[in-house]
Amino acid sequence: MSNPESETERARIVEVKKNQEYEIKIESFGNSGEGISHIDGYTLFVSGALPGEKVKVVVTKAKKNYGYARLLSVIESSPDRVEPVCPVAKRCGGCDLQHMNYEAGLAFKVKHVRDCIERIGGVEIPLLEAIGCEKKDGEYNPWHYRNKAQFPVGLDRSGKPVAGFYASRSHEIIPCENCALQDEKINRAVSVVMDTVRDAVEKNNDKKLIYDEITHTGWLRHIYVRRAVKTGQLFICLVVNDKNVNKISKEKQDILKTIINRADELGDEVSVCINQNTEKTNVVLGRDYKAIKNNTYIEDRIGDLTFCIAPESFYQVNSFMTEKLYNKALEYAALSGDEVVWDLYCGIGTISLFLSQKARKVVGVEIVEQAIKNAKENARINGIDNASFYCGAAEDIISEVMKDQDKKSAAGSDLDVVDMPDVVVVDPPRKGCDEKLIAAIGEASPSRIVYVSCDPATLARDIARLREYGYTLKKACVIDQFWQTRHVETVCLCST
Ligand code: SAH
Repeated sequence: MSNPESETERARIVEVKKNQEYEIKIESFGNSGEGISHIDGYTLFVSGALPGEKVKVVVTKAKKNYGYARLLSVIESSPDRVEPVCPVAKRCGGCDLQHMNYEAGLAFKVKHVRDCIERIGGVEIPLLEAIGCEKKDGEYNPWHYRNKAQFPVGLDRSGKPVAGFYASRSHEIIPCENCALQDEKINRAVSVVMDTVRDAVEKNNDKKLIYDEITHTGWLRHIYVRRAVKTGQLFICLVVNDKNVNKISKEKQDILKTIINRADELGDEVSVCINQNTEKTNVVLGRDYKAIKNNTYIEDRIGDLTFCIAPESFYQVNSFMTEKLYNKALEYAALSGDEVVWDLYCGIGTISLFLSQKARKVVGVEIVEQAIKNAKENARINGIDNASFYCGAAEDIISEVMKDQDKKSAAGSDLDVVDMPDVVVVDPPRKGCDEKLIAAIGEASPSRIVYVSCDPATLARDIARLREYGYTLKKACVIDQFWQTRHVETVCLCST
C-alpha cells in the first residue's frame, strides 16, 4: 500500500532544487523581514518579497525542508511596496526594509515581537504598544537618523580608495559615502576625509595610505564619526594602522592638516582625532587616541541632562527616539521617589541618571571601563549625587552582591552592601541576560523589572526564565529606533 506522506516527501525533495525558478505567492514575513512561501510544505525564504505578492524567484540554496530564493521579478505587487531610496540598498548589508513603506516595516516589527514573546516566551502580551517615527507635515521622514558611523576604508578593484559598508556576510566594501540612514553631517565628514585621502593617494602615488586587511599593511582603516544632534558637536576619528601616532610622517600630517582646515566647513564644534589600531582584527577601535583638534569625546543632551560620551562607550544610535525610549522605561518603572533602582548594563549612565531624578538611589553596572568613567563624570556634571556606578559583568557583580546579602542576613550585621532594589532595569546587548543574572535578580526580588531589549528572541527567552522567579509580563512597547532595518527595540514591564 502506498504511503501518501512519504510520496509527498519524495515529490518535495525532487521538486525544489537549487537554480530552479518558481512563481510563488508570499504568505508572511520571516524574522528578518524577508518573505516566506511554501511549495507543498517546503519553506522558501525570499529576501525583498512582501506578504501578498506573487513573485518569480530562483532557488539559491536548497536544504531538506527549507531553502532560500532570490527575487527575480514581482508579478503582483503589494500596496506596501516602495522603490528603495538608496542605490546600494540591495547590496549593502545595512537596510532590510527599504522596499516597503514605513508603516509596513513597523507593523512587521510589532508582529515579530508578538510572535517571539508568544512562541519562545510562551506567554500572551496583555498590552503591546508601539512608538515609531513621528510624522512631519503629514509625512514620515525615517532617514538620516543614525548618530554614529564606522565606515571601513579600502581600495576598489581599480585601486581607487573607497569608503562604505560591508556587503551582507562579507568583507567586501560596498562604496557608499552618502548613506540614507546616517546623519547628513556624518556623510559630509566622510566625504571630506575621503576626498582628502584620495587627493593624497593620487598626488603622492601612495596606495599604502589605505589599509589592506588581507596583508595587514597600509594606514587608514576606518572612519569613525559621531554626531550629537542636540549640541551640534561632530566627532571625526581616523582609525589608523600606525605604530607611533606621536611621530606621524609629513605626508600623513599634511592629510590631517587638510582635514582640520576643511572641518570648519562642517561646523564650529568639530573634534578630529586619530585612533591607533595596529592589531590584525575585526575590532574597529584600538586603545589609544590622540586629539588633533578639540576633544577625544563628544557631548550630547537627552532631556535636561548632558552626557559626555567616549568613542568606545555605547550611546543609543537614534537621537530622535532615545528620549521616547527612556520616558517609556521611566513610565514602566513607576517611581514615586522613594525607590532603589538597579540599572544593569548601564553604559554611560543615561537611564540611571534619567531615573535618578525620580528615585531615592540608583546603582548602575556596566562592563566597559570607559563607559563607567563617563557615567561617574555624567553624574557629576549634572549635579546628581544619588547614583553610584560599578564596573564589571552584571552577572558577576549582582551574584556577588546577593552572596554578600546572604552573609549579611546570616550575621545579622550591616555589612556594607548595595541596597536591595525596588526596581531593576536591564538593557543587555543582543545576547540578552546571563542565566546567572536572572537568578540573582530573582533572588533580589524587586517589585518591578523593566527590560529594555534590542533582540526579541533573547527577550522572550529571558521573560520565560523570569517567570520561574514569579515575574509575569504586564506590558510591552516597541520603540522603533532602527528605521529601514529589521532591528527592533522593545521595553517590557514584568512584575510579581
Ligand atoms: N542602557 C545603556 C546601554 C545599553 S547597551 C544606554 O541606554 O545607553 C548595553 C550595554 O551593556 C553596553 O554598554 C555594553 O558595554 C554593556 N554590557 C555588555 N555586556 C555586559 C555585561 N555582561 N555586564 C554589564 N554590562 C555589559
